[in-house]
Amino acid sequence: MDHRSELLPCYLDYTPPHEVIARDGKAELVRVWDPDLESDASYWLMTGEWRADLGPIGLVQRVSSGTRKNERVFAERPNAFGNFVTEPGVSLEKLLEKVYDLVSSLTFGRTDDAALFTGWETQRVLARFRDFRHLYSPNDIVPEFNDTMVITKISQDCDRTCLYCPDRRDGKKRLELFTREKVRMNMELARAVEVEYHGGHLDLMIEHFLNGSDLLWFPAGEPRAYPSPLEIVEMGASIFPEAWKRYAFMGLPNVNRTPPGYLRRIREAGLYSVLVGVESFHEQTSRFLGKPESTASKVEAIEKLKEAGFKVKLIIQVGMVGEGFMADGRFYSGREGLEETARVCARILGDPLTRHREGDRTKALISEYLSLEGTPLFPLHQEGKIVTPYRSAEGLRNDVEFFLRLLGGAANDPNAVETGYEAAIQSPSRSV
Ligand code: SF4
Repeated sequence: MDHRSELLPCYLDYTPPHEVIARDGKAELVRVWDPDLESDASYWLMTGEWRADLGPIGLVQRVSSGTRKNERVFAERPNAFGNFVTEPGVSLEKLLEKVYDLVSSLTFGRTDDAALFTGWETQRVLARFRDFRHLYSPNDIVPEFNDTMVITKISQDCDRTCLYCPDRRDGKKRLELFTREKVRMNMELARAVEVEYHGGHLDLMIEHFLNGSDLLWFPAGEPRAYPSPLEIVEMGASIFPEAWKRYAFMGLPNVNRTPPGYLRRIREAGLYSVLVGVESFHEQTSRFLGKPESTASKVEAIEKLKEAGFKVKLIIQVGMVGEGFMADGRFYSGREGLEETARVCARILGDPLTRHREGDRTKALISEYLSLEGTPLFPLHQEGKIVTPYRSAEGLRNDVEFFLRLLGGAANDPNAVETGYEAAIQSPSRSV
């Protein structure tokens, strides 16, 4: 089989590294990857008229036609909740049938490539998303949820009171840590679901998210009913041995309270990446949003995590306060907060050359404000008294661009800065 694609030029004006793994007269299935990016290889099914992005394990992520300039999107999903958005009048089921019927009609060059796609058909794909839904609750925040990730719920809710949090909708919830038995049971349930749908290619299921608001809420002392953070990570590593990218949220105040040696042990036990909700490095904005810790203490905690060997992902909010907000008897503009945040963030990320040389993998995930009914922030934007909402429809987009410009060189490095984090809180309840 000729492994060079004839159809990629229909969709791209450059040729990424790729390999045709299956084709017939009118269609190609191509593995495409960018070796400079951390992201996994992705499979594209192409005809001369349309293309389906099948992600890294063969689950449809997007179906479209045309090139980037004149693209028409028939269906797409921003994460692995399975919440497809379809073009009006398009039937998701019919679209999936078209894709998987075509895949099954292709001639594969190698049997191991064919095995990845064997068994995927519309109803099984939809059932897979529905069964994965048992692994999280509707308001959970699952960052970078993608097809190669399995989730284990380790706690419910949170004791903090962030204004924008989808987990705080009723304002009365309290953190509930799960017992050792429950954490283990949830891991075994997640493993069973993973094996059911991905048993033939577990080696591709490389990500494991410990789903809870802060791993460090768990007590690290004497063994009790609750597992320690270290035990949870060790349990995850033994039940999901293929998942070398294991993630968890940690709150920065708890990081500062944790001895560096203990953080290193957690890293060595198999926690790869820590996500931290920085939100803003502008102290008044951060306090207003519900994170009253100082910028200096946030930076100290981030450095501590880096020194322990974690890949640290900083979640930064843009647009939460619209054009500005009132606090302490004065008005703070949203841009003032973004300027301060960009200044500190750029210093942490460093310039692209130094980062590369020093192997620094810290990353900023930029989240655009999503107006979520039921969060304490929602009425403040609606009333427009304490928060001044954007006056124009482009306000939020302009602020994201403003922030990225201020970040400078790092903003052009996809390993340092990524936009679109808000997909983590797009309601899973719209799922298939
Ligand atoms: S710390 Fe996270 S989970 Fe807790 S209230 Fe804030 S955003 Fe929500």
